[in-house]
Amino acid sequence: MMKGRHADIAILGGGLAGGLTALALAALRPDLRVLVIEAGQTCGGNHIWSFFDSDIAKEDRWLVEPLLVARWSSHSVRFARGDRTLPIGYASITGTQLDAVLDSVLPQGAILRGCPVVAVGPGHAELADGRRIEAGAVIDARGAGHFPGLVGGWQKFVGQRLRTGPHGITAPIIMDATVAQHDGYRFIYVLPLSDDTLFVEDTYYSSSPAIDRDRLAGRIADYVRALGLAVDVMGEEQGCLPVVAGGDGEAFLNAGGQSGVARIGARAGLFHPLTSYSLPSAVTMALAIARASSFAPEALTALCEQAARQHWRAGTYFRLLARMMFAAGPPDQRHRIFARFYAQGEGLIARFYAGRMTMWDRARLLIGKPPVPLRGAMAALLGGGAPLAALGAPDGSALPLDAQPPMRDISVSASPPSASLASGEPA
Ligand SMILES: Cc1cc2nc3c(=O)[nH]c(=O)nc-3n(C[C@H](O)[C@H](O)[C@H](O)COP(=O)(O)OP(=O)(O)OC[C@H]3O[C@@H](n4cnc5c(N)ncnc54)[C@H](O)[C@@H]3O)c2cc1C
Repeated sequence: MMKGRHADIAILGGGLAGGLTALALAALRPDLRVLVIEAGQTCGGNHIWSFFDSDIAKEDRWLVEPLLVARWSSHSVRFARGDRTLPIGYASITGTQLDAVLDSVLPQGAILRGCPVVAVGPGHAELADGRRIEAGAVIDARGAGHFPGLVGGWQKFVGQRLRTGPHGITAPIIMDATVAQHDGYRFIYVLPLSDDTLFVEDTYYSSSPAIDRDRLAGRIADYVRALGLAVDVMGEEQGCLPVVAGGDGEAFLNAGGQSGVARIGARAGLFHPLTSYSLPSAVTMALAIARASSFAPEALTALCEQAARQHWRAGTYFRLLARMMFAAGPPDQRHRIFARFYAQGEGLIARFYAGRMTMWDRARLLIGKPPVPLRGAMAALLGGGAPLAALGAPDGSALPLDAQPPMRDISVSASPPSASLASGEPA
């Protein structure tokens, strides 16, 4: 309990991981005083985060339940060989809803918004306005920090919330890979948010983090118009997320850390190496913290470090798949890896997303004729193949996970795509 401190636990960053941890603590440890310190004017930013039903254990769902803005009982994928509907539910939460729920659940004064943290140490944080916050323990959830020593590629995208008019789409299309392939593996992601609103994302598994926003927005407009729908843009987000294919895990986990300061979320590498999804890990970590037997800084730091190490080890197989994707074959053949994956059984697909594949699942994906040229596949498996991109900055120190600004609200109609956006060009 507090003795002359501002809080028992200060959570730096009210994004996905920090927000969920604050909610878990409020529910399971109401005796502890939690302070969330967020740089933005709201917690959660203007994001849509989605997850598969199978990602979160049934007994843990209560944590995300109040945040849900949409839920579907199935989803589909589209590849050249045909469409497939999977009876695996999918759901979305938003930053706006996270902000509102935090407000309603935490006591007044428990959230400091518009307060960037400029320095951190065990038991304290300094704010840009000069204030010093003293806390029993500090949890750093300020989003991605550094990826030194890691290699791979990027999953990059532009997503738009569109008022389309009645569209008749009843379930999310997680990957529509029937679109022209550019810049690696390209697919369109569609969420039917309401009867007349779609969220449509143009996504690339690319070796380069560069995003030509206008070109991708044009491709979204082309896609939606080809469905015979209107394109009225209500909001937009961009992302450039790391796809980790290898590197020095120990160096990465040790980089940027501070003794006595626990790290969670993307900052601790708690995301799926291949999909970059972090919501399932954020739920697990939030509940592990709220159920911790000690909130002493060293104990909390050890708990989070152990979780990050275990997550890194559990990601070995997914990094191998990422290596196959980025090192084994030509970029325009990357789609074959996902096409093969989506030909597997529903159980395997669900376990893949949740990061809980069995040994048999792992073998199944690798046996048989590889989806990429055999020589390239062998070279990639042995650590060779095409060079992988460094995921740190050129000086080897940093690359922000959310390198692009989060979704911003705009209420303009998209201009018609120009002729230069015709398919067939590189991204
Ligand atoms: C556009 C986009 C869409 C995504 N969609 C999904 C998805 O559908 N499903 C999924 O599982 N994953 C998704 N991801 C990947 C991943 O889940 C997110 O990046 C997730 O937000 C990471 O959670 P986090 O809490 O670590 O970081 P964030 O959610 O980014 O939270 C960090 C918070 O810290 C704050 N902050 C930063 N610096 C400071 C400071 N100095 N002082 C105080 N506060 C600070 C930020 O303002 C932010 O609110 C998406 C990522 C992006 C970029």
